[in-house]
Amino acid sequence: MTTGPSHLAQMMPPTMMDGVLLGDGIDSAAAWTATKALLERDVTPADFAAWLQPLELVRHEGTELILSVPTTFMQDWVQKHYREKLAEAWLAVSGQTVIVNFDVAPAWRPEELVKAVKPKNENKNESGQSADWLAGNPLDPRYTFASFVTGQSNQFAFAAAQRVADEMGAFNPFFLHGGVGLGKTHLMQAIGWSLKAKRPGVRIQYLSAEQFLYTFIRAIREKNTLGFKELFRNVDVLMIDDIQFIAGKEATQEEFFHTFNSLVAAGKQVILTADKSPHELANIEDRLRSRLGSGLAVEVHAPEVETRQAILEQKAAAMGLDLPHDVTTLLATNIASNVRELEGALNRLGAFAKLTGQPLTIAFAKEQLRDLLRVQVRVVGVEDIQKQVAEYFKIRVADMHAPRRDRAVARPRQVAMYLCKQLTTRSYPDIGRAFGGRDHTTVMHACQQIQNLLERDPQLVEHVNLLQQMLTAR
Ligand code: ADP
Ligand code: MG
Repeated sequence: MTTGPSHLAQMMPPTMMDGVLLGDGIDSAAAWTATKALLERDVTPADFAAWLQPLELVRHEGTELILSVPTTFMQDWVQKHYREKLAEAWLAVSGQTVIVNFDVAPAWRPEELVKAVKPKNENKNESGQSADWLAGNPLDPRYTFASFVTGQSNQFAFAAAQRVADEMGAFNPFFLHGGVGLGKTHLMQAIGWSLKAKRPGVRIQYLSAEQFLYTFIRAIREKNTLGFKELFRNVDVLMIDDIQFIAGKEATQEEFFHTFNSLVAAGKQVILTADKSPHELANIEDRLRSRLGSGLAVEVHAPEVETRQAILEQKAAAMGLDLPHDVTTLLATNIASNVRELEGALNRLGAFAKLTGQPLTIAFAKEQLRDLLRVQVRVVGVEDIQKQVAEYFKIRVADMHAPRRDRAVARPRQVAMYLCKQLTTRSYPDIGRAFGGRDHTTVMHACQQIQNLLERDPQLVEHVNLLQQMLTAR
């Protein structure tokens, strides 16, 4: 490899380069470890595993402590329930008062960075290679092709990724883009696993762009740019995740560009992900942009409701969680934009189910996820539902209130009642009144009946899903 840090990079003051301030990493890391250990004794093991274990220290700057959480709603939860505890524990171990803030991002691991740039000799073997650096960032064993659920939204990306795994270099670079939590990292790592299975000994380096950035800055700061280059010298496949992160960071872009070019020139496979396509990425130098788009760029779209349902079913099965159909539907219809959140909701339900030992019910799920579902639950009213359902089944809204009992209107009416129970906070008697003064037992019966039918009538599932989606779409 002939890449080196750019002149620009060399001229910049190391601690402030690219706008990133490196704090006192080692002490902060130690304090964070101690803080976690303290908290582990303070809360139940299940709570610790569910909410505190996943937190990672991003940085400690002055009086601010920034922790990363894997999902936004975990952020909400942890913020509500553990923010003060975290600050107290930090104070107890370090004597410093801090304000705890959260960042929803895949965590970069300071200890890996330290490992990656610190050792000048101890990581090297006889031939001067530093193979264990390359093992520093393992692929997640859960992210395989087999565990990836496909549907219309991601079929093409899936097929292209498989092709890359079958024929290295077919598309170089291979560029996956799309919104947050849609499976880009999963697919990228799946390529890695597949390659490993087919070609034992293949050397894969997986890094987030943040890691690339921080490692690079750290290398400059510690005057170990050689060590940085070592990271890439012996790889066959380089994967960099979320490269939008280096947008606007000129020195890092420059370095990335060199690394990238020399790898491609040497016939190595480069795989990248970003939140946008190469030509939509802002603040990326044109030269780099056109290089990024010179292989194959594929978009991963948000999964449609059937795929979300299938993902939930697969994940629940993998967790050994018995997820009733109506709960699956509730999650699949209400959490539409992001698989990571879907998964997070599931994890939370799993944690609670384990804690209480009780079977999951729709009421329980609604209660435990109400911060997540509330927005939609509030905005839909009984009248909206009656109107939408009537329109959908091509009956008159008046039939919702009328005493008619023939199936053509009775079933849609039951669906409407069911949806009222699902999507609003109205009680059975309340709903009965809104449907022409019916008794609350009629409403309960309707909900039960629809619930039963949903277990065995896929067409009804589709109707109900669609209706929920139309009603809750914002
Ligand atoms: P991104 O990198 O696009 O932000 P990730 O790859 O991290 O998203 O995916 C978020 C989570 O959702 C991961 O746990 C991943 O396994 C899961 N996931 C996303 N899409 C799928 C899918 N199609 N099938 C199974 N799991 C998925
Ligand atoms: Mg990702």
